[in-house]
Amino acid sequence: MHVRVKATGKTMHVARDSSTELMLAAGLIEEIKPEPPKPGTAVWSLTNPAAEGSEYSHLTIRAACDVCAQKIWGSPRPNMADVNKLVFWHCGKGERPPAHVAAEYVKAGGGLPFPKGQGANHQPEPKYSESVLDMNNHGRTTKIEGVGR
Ligand SMILES: [Zn+2]
Repeated sequence: MHVRVKATGKTMHVARDSSTELMLAAGLIEEIKPEPPKPGTAVWSLTNPAAEGSEYSHLTIRAACDVCAQKIWGSPRPNMADVNKLVFWHCGKGERPPAHVAAEYVKAGGGLPFPKGQGANHQPEPKYSESVLDMNNHGRTTKIEGVGR
C-alpha cells in the first residue's frame, strides 16, 4: 500500500502487515488511496456525411467521449422534444445534446432517418407493436402473476 509518513511528509510503498496496521492506528502514517478515474464529458457536434459522399448519411448529431471511447450518432425528428430524447450513455451517466447543438440541428431542419439496418448507430428506445406481442402470444392474454405467492 502507498502511505505518507505524517511527521516527514515522505511517501512510500509498504506491505500491508501488522506493523503497518499499528502505525496507521497510531496515526503515524496515512494511506494514500489511488484517485478513481474521472468520468469523461461528451463532445457533441453536427456532421453531414452526405456532404462527404456517403450514400446513406444525413445531417446527424454526434457525441463522442475521449475517456471511454464510445460514440453515438442519430438523426431524430427536428424538434426539441425528439432531439432531447437522444441520450448518450457512457462513463456511467447519460448525457443529452447541449442546447446550442440541439437548436442548430432543429434550425437546419434535422436529418433524414437512416434506412433500416444501414449506417445507424444510436441507442433507440425499444418499441413493441401490439401485433408482435399478439403473434408471440397466439392471440391470448397472459396474466403475469406476482412472485413469491
Ligand atoms: Zn465516456
